[in-house]
Amino acid sequence: MGETHVVTGGERVRGYELAMPVRFRGLTRREGLLWRGPAGWAEWSPFLDYSGAELLPWLRAADEAADQGWPAPLRGAVPVNCTVPAVGPAQAHAIVARAVAGWGCGTAKVKVAERGQSLADDLARCEAVRDALGPVGRLRVDANGGWDVDAAETAVRALDRFELEYVEQPCPSVEDLAALRVRLARTGRPVPVAADESIRRVEDPYRVAALEAADVAVLKVAPLGGVRAALEVADRIGLPVVVSSAVETSVGLAAGVALAAALPELPYACGLGTTSLLDGDVVTDPLVPVDGALPVRAVAVDEERLARHRMDPSDEESWLHRLEETRALAVASPGRAPEASRG
Ligand SMILES: [Mg+2]
Repeated sequence: MGETHVVTGGERVRGYELAMPVRFRGLTRREGLLWRGPAGWAEWSPFLDYSGAELLPWLRAADEAADQGWPAPLRGAVPVNCTVPAVGPAQAHAIVARAVAGWGCGTAKVKVAERGQSLADDLARCEAVRDALGPVGRLRVDANGGWDVDAAETAVRALDRFELEYVEQPCPSVEDLAALRVRLARTGRPVPVAADESIRRVEDPYRVAALEAADVAVLKVAPLGGVRAALEVADRIGLPVVVSSAVETSVGLAAGVALAAALPELPYACGLGTTSLLDGDVVTDPLVPVDGALPVRAVAVDEERLARHRMDPSDEESWLHRLEETRALAVASPGRAPEASRG
């Protein structure tokens, strides 16, 4: 019954679990491991559908946070968007109005192409959001790959009456994104295309860039193997980057903020304002937006809060096992050695 003490770099590793009031990615709770190294706190919370070698970049990202820290920031705050799920127009209006009044939100991301809904639903939702945002607010839509090329072209042209900043992952495949861009380029005001789900592994952004499949790349720190690795990707693909979270606690979010703060250019608000998706946090001073942006700063785990959200012991046991297996795999895969010493 004694407390498990698995040690990484001399520090105890502990699990958290937090409920998600609104289902996201099919999940109703978020869980992961936390530990502290010489450079700061680290979170390792790969989704449960990741396995084997897919877990290695998530581990490199956590080790970077604990052992190395991040490159110096170029800005002191990172603008973030609010997110509107596939709800009706009245609720969509209320969500955005609350974000505008509450924390100065200037950008809304609206879910569209939801299964079982129609373009009319998307139009009504976007109209409500534009009304709540006002004319200067930025409105982007995220289809999560829900359209084919024809449906995407029709929908994007129709939705652009509300002046879209960009459309995120309109179609599932990189080839279809490229084809859609060609079609949209024939219109007077081609709406930019952002790639999100198309970028899941380190090699993916290069394919997106090579096929000219996107105008914007959505990058997440953990699946790309850390802040330095993501900065290198951003530099090599030459596309504007939107940094997004994997819905971590403020410990994991801090890495996304560090990436956004270190990018030479940051033309768009980032998808890092996601603490509200979790029913609680584990740090003393959570990363919540103020004046439309997240502050760029370190966070520290609050022992009392972690105790409150501590993972169930048997779940923690299997998570620690998952971590040890991934560490063993990292040692056994020298070809995938961390590029942590770089830059
Ligand atoms: Mg997305």
